[in-house]
Amino acid sequence: MKSIILIAAPAAGKGTEAAILKEQYGMAHISTGDILREKSKEDSEMGRDILNKISNGIFVSDELIIELLKERIQKDDCANGYILDGFPRNVAQAESYDSMLVELNKDLGIAIIIDTDKEIAKARIEGRRSCPKCGRIYNMTFEEMKPKKDEICDDCGVELFQRPDDNGDTYEDRYNTYIEKTSPLIEYYESKGVAYHVDGSKGKDYTHEQVEKILGELND
Ligand code: AMP
Repeated sequence: MKSIILIAAPAAGKGTEAAILKEQYGMAHISTGDILREKSKEDSEMGRDILNKISNGIFVSDELIIELLKERIQKDDCANGYILDGFPRNVAQAESYDSMLVELNKDLGIAIIIDTDKEIAKARIEGRRSCPKCGRIYNMTFEEMKPKKDEICDDCGVELFQRPDDNGDTYEDRYNTYIEKTSPLIEYYESKGVAYHVDGSKGKDYTHEQVEKILGELND
């Protein structure tokens, strides 16, 4: 399976689609946000610095993220392709990633852009909850994404949490950062001929249907 880079505004459905792909194809799901949230628990200067940045929606340094990603994609579960959720976040990261792939003799794969209206994504963010154990994403605003038991993960039985950066106040900044820094990646991957767009405004099933269609056509 080709590796897949998911590009979308915050709360537009990257994590949800990545989890579906992981389940269906057994591909590794690499969320740089999850890796950083784990690192932010460390009682060290680096841990505290990461916590401060992610709580405020500020990017960590390109050097740190590149180092963490390089380590991650060399693990065994990435040998047959993986899903990138939250990386690259800017063109400098994409360029470093291209060099990394050459060095590691890995393929770029494809980039899937989940196009979602800003107001829809903003409405989703307030209701978003995550499982601290398995990372599964729920949404209290939408019936189809609610857990069976209030605020409890269906799979792990542990209490869900709300990310500190998931609120309407930081959303504006995070969205603006996405437009300014991340959205130029769309052209970057279009110019390489590996970009595919899906409409993410109609819910997770419709998003996934379109992704499957793209993957099916690529494998024909
Ligand atoms: P996410 O879970 O992808 O929304 O990421 C949460 C936060 O982690 C972001 O707002 C950034 O502070 C940080 N982060 C995640 N991925 C990256 C990245 N590729 N480069 C820099 N910062 C990142």
